Amino acid sequence: MAWPSVVDVSSSIPLATTYSQARQRFLTEARDSGATVASYLHPARGLEDEELAIDVAELGPDDATDVVVVVSGTHGVEGYCGSALQSRWLECCAADRPHDMAVVLVHALNPYGFSWVRRTNEDNVDLNRNFVDWDQPLPTNPGYDEIAELLVPSRWTDDERARTDGLLLEMLADRGLESFQQTISGGQYSHPDGVFYGGAGPVWSQTWLRAWCDQRLAGVRRVAIIDLHTGLGPWGEGELITSESLDSPAHRRASAWWGEVTSMVGGDSVSALLSGDWLDAAPGFVPGAEVTSAALEFGTIDPVSVLQALRADAWLHAHGDPRAPASTEVRAQVRQAFADDDPAWLEAVWARFLQVVEQTFVALSA
Ligand SMILES: [Zn+2]
Repeated sequence: MAWPSVVDVSSSIPLATTYSQARQRFLTEARDSGATVASYLHPARGLEDEELAIDVAELGPDDATDVVVVVSGTHGVEGYCGSALQSRWLECCAADRPHDMAVVLVHALNPYGFSWVRRTNEDNVDLNRNFVDWDQPLPTNPGYDEIAELLVPSRWTDDERARTDGLLLEMLADRGLESFQQTISGGQYSHPDGVFYGGAGPVWSQTWLRAWCDQRLAGVRRVAIIDLHTGLGPWGEGELITSESLDSPAHRRASAWWGEVTSMVGGDSVSALLSGDWLDAAPGFVPGAEVTSAALEFGTIDPVSVLQALRADAWLHAHGDPRAPASTEVRAQVRQAFADDDPAWLEAVWARFLQVVEQTFVALSA
């Protein structure tokens, strides 16, 4: 039986301005919708010295063989959008979900970055570059090494910014956006203070995620994962991106469920080909289950402005003072790159999110 579409009668609530605000709304909506909630405390504190946690809200039978997992905040700051989508879904739509499957909302996979308004975590690590095989030699990125100093200079003065911006823009014009994006955002393991740094070993959120999957998803037959992201692609549009090769069984299944699904391996995606993204590793966490997954990536502003925000943020945490009054400007710049407070953006993003969730229910109910 196909799952019927719900009628969305909810209204838009502005994006939260702090992690605590987003978390409170999520926990309230989760409890009001009858979800079971488990909170996993993070060892660090947030920007306002608040508690940090990954909160997991779950609806449906414990022993369901099909599980839908929706994750926010893999990239910290991107959680302002992801959290709002999760909370609104709990408010408006949870009661009308199909009742034979479990729906699990993982709130703030990287709570530290969420609170500190960063894409990265407490170790300046990009969580989606951290799921490499740490027993193997690490991927190298000589192109990044060449420009590491330009990307994150030790001083962030007007002069230094003009110098480094000029050189980077020259390089962009020379190499083209795609190659430039691949070099910078593909992942690097040699500059801990840089951007798109993959780390020196599994980070806290990775360890948590593996243990949680191991415990919660053991014995499950089918797992659908939607990992919510922002910052790439046209404004307000939501592109589904898989880590699977084009025309692999998992990609074919994802396309059958959701329509167009681009592949970062196939080169047709707004994303570069990443090393160490978690969806690529996810099937290994739930051996025996059929995993169908995609990142749902919502466009915000242009890629050069996004990169400028990430450079400012990396500089602030490597060489500046993240608690100084001036640091609020950098956080505002980062937030603007990954979350748009325009209600029209949120409505567009919400409609796309709801469509993807509904398509997932339909596919699993067929
Ligand atoms: Zn992201």
